[in-house]
Amino acid sequence: MEAHPAAENWEQFRQTLRGRVTPVTWRTWLDGLQPESIADDVIHITAPSEFHLRWVNEKFRPLVEDAVATAFGSGLIVELSAPDEPHYEPLLEEDSDPEPADALPILVEESPTAQRFLPKYSFENFVVGPSNRFAHAAAMAIAEQPGGNYNPLFVYGGSGLGKTHLLHAVAQHSALLHPQLEISYVSSEEFFNNFIDSIRKKRMDEFKAHYRTVDLFLLDDVQFLEGKEQILEEFFHTFNSLYEAGKQLVFSADRPPKSLTNLEARIRSRFEWGLTTDIQPPDVETRLAILRRNAAFAPQPIPEPVLEFIAAGVVDNIRELEGALTRVTAYAALTHQPINLEMAEDVLQDLGPAHSKAPVSPARILAATAEAFSLSIADLEGPRRNQPLARARQIAMYLVRETTDLSLPKIGVIFGGRDHTTVLHGINTVSRLMSEDEMLFDRVTALMQGLRRNP
Ligand code: ADP
Ligand code: MG
Repeated sequence: MEAHPAAENWEQFRQTLRGRVTPVTWRTWLDGLQPESIADDVIHITAPSEFHLRWVNEKFRPLVEDAVATAFGSGLIVELSAPDEPHYEPLLEEDSDPEPADALPILVEESPTAQRFLPKYSFENFVVGPSNRFAHAAAMAIAEQPGGNYNPLFVYGGSGLGKTHLLHAVAQHSALLHPQLEISYVSSEEFFNNFIDSIRKKRMDEFKAHYRTVDLFLLDDVQFLEGKEQILEEFFHTFNSLYEAGKQLVFSADRPPKSLTNLEARIRSRFEWGLTTDIQPPDVETRLAILRRNAAFAPQPIPEPVLEFIAAGVVDNIRELEGALTRVTAYAALTHQPINLEMAEDVLQDLGPAHSKAPVSPARILAATAEAFSLSIADLEGPRRNQPLARARQIAMYLVRETTDLSLPKIGVIFGGRDHTTVLHGINTVSRLMSEDEMLFDRVTALMQGLRRNP
């Protein structure tokens, strides 16, 4: 008989496992495991993605089996799988507190390489959410096993979304785990300047000897090298000798490799040899979690409404998000006043356009979507799942997500008490279809514009 694993056994499984790994490993790889079913002598567990699955299988399988034996009794066969579609559960529920930042020591003093990296830019301080989960997992995998399966790693995304932070974290964490490795993190600009300098001083041999012999090479913002022919030639050889020697390469850029059109094809294609992953702008839960984490270090308490105000106002740049918080705390310190919402609104009058836009009401979104698809509002809220109703409902969920700052669980409540994972699946489906289905794209866009014009 198939059944759902008992909650208390599962909890014991989690506690056992959690006690045996570092907090970062727990959060990255194991916290997301879900019990599916238990039948006769097989327990079926799912991982959040293919990538997690592979890593759990390679690295933690014995630990998982052991914890299953402890919690459920011995003799069970563990079956691990991943959902067909990537399924990124938001790690941070809206009322969950971020883990304390001091969960792990950030740096080991005796490692000379580790000291060169910014302590703030550690995995510990990196808040994981749906927008960066894959990049974080890949970075973590590489820090644990440089030169392994994911070479090179190419991370791309807009400004202020955490690329540099992640690269530093990889460098620090691998310095910690593998103190014997020679690690080189360098911005592309620095790399370029070193190169020019070496030519001027006729020290190209040193330049080559340095960069071609490291074990882990992290090069940030490679878009900077576009069109710089001379250094690209040198870079090409650096890449080849490191890659052939099985050394780990990590790159970041503001665009995916194929959009780096001023790089030769041979370099662009090399960037794609390993794993390419993006970082998206963070959703509101992640923004809040980042703000809460920063607020914990502020000299005076910052009320939750202030954090929510900032999270709603800065949507696509974490640097700006942190900057806004800093401005408020700085102002409060300057004027010797406690921080409150009124003050924050006053100090941050220039915050993004999100504020001037009147919020769209969910009721209005339901009404507009129902009308566009000739359905009733009750249909959208109700249990039926036939097409085209189910698709229309997903579109309505997507519109609520895009035009309001409601959290996934809250959106679930609007749609007849659906689970937040159902909501997330709906939103992801529509996002994906937007780039595939022109008719759907037009309909969603028209609805969105109508709602924004007439909220
Ligand atoms: P990028 O290199 O993509 O322009 P950075 O790595 O410099 O962005 O990040 C900008 C700021 O935002 C840094 O202060 C960084 O610590 C912070 N930051 C970015 N992503 C996160 C995250 N996921 N959690 C916590 N802080 C973050
Ligand atoms: Mg950067």
